[in-house]
Amino acid sequence: MDQYCVMGNPVEHSKSPWIHARFAALTGEPVAYGKRLIPLDDFAGSVRAFMREGGRGCNITLPFKFEAAAVVSRRTARAALADACNVLSFEGETIVGDNTDGVGLVADLQRNAGVQIAGAEVLLLGAGGAAAGVLGPILEARPRRVVVANRTAAKAEALVARHATLAAANEVQLQAVPLEAVAGSFDIVLNATASSLAGAGVPVPGSVLRPGALACDLMYGPAAAPFLQWAREHGAVGRDGLGMLVEQAAEAFLVWRGVRPPSAKVLAELRAELPA
Ligand code: NAP
Repeated sequence: MDQYCVMGNPVEHSKSPWIHARFAALTGEPVAYGKRLIPLDDFAGSVRAFMREGGRGCNITLPFKFEAAAVVSRRTARAALADACNVLSFEGETIVGDNTDGVGLVADLQRNAGVQIAGAEVLLLGAGGAAAGVLGPILEARPRRVVVANRTAAKAEALVARHATLAAANEVQLQAVPLEAVAGSFDIVLNATASSLAGAGVPVPGSVLRPGALACDLMYGPAAAPFLQWAREHGAVGRDGLGMLVEQAAEAFLVWRGVRPPSAKVLAELRAELPA
């Protein structure tokens, strides 16, 4: 069996081993996938140790996605734009860093939820690792306008500056604002902040939602419930981050194995597994 794992801290809650076990079973690929709790002060050493043990690659979750981008030998274009990696592939002594969070979110919104991003006005909340990963693929889906809003405004400005060329190439108006200055309403609101994780409530007023808008929290599980209720109360369609989780994993499986697993089937199975 070829060895893979997810590395994070904490990592106990991770659904990635379950998802990759289903992908392996459904595709017949000889993949064994575990999880590793990584000390906060030894990320690079932990990656090297897994390579020495014969690991073929790993997923990276909180809080190591930015650190991962710094330790890799080479980054794919989408990982370079994000400046964050959630997928590492080991090729001999070389570590290739990739980022599949954004393609995962776009696949979930467009394929699973039937949402059209092209021509839409999008509010992206947050400028951390998740927001950095999703902005590029969102721009490539050619919305009309994207506003990035973050508590620390300078981080939103830096993220927008890094994506200015891509936005112009896709004819998207791209703008950064401080969280408290968000104005107007949007077709798609993406919560890529850790507000749900922190139990801190939705950081913008319900007026940002147009009637029938899509409101997607990248969080999933019980912590996403207040956001989904907020979406319903303001006439929007709520969606959690479970679909993104499965789709970013499917893209990682494709990167590692060259085989695209049946992600919609695995998402349905995972929803049935989890408490409502
Ligand atoms: P991160 O790098 O730590 O960034 C956290 C972001 O949240 C920053 O923009 C931060 O603002 C903001 N923030 C934190 N607490 C806040 C609050 N109370 N009010 C408003 N803004 C707040 O974390 P991350 O990796 O981006 O993860 C963000 C979320 O996405 C998490 O809930 C994570 O579980 C989820 N996620 C889901 C998937 C998936 O596959 N579904 C994948 C990746 C991440 P400042 O910059 O001002 O600190």
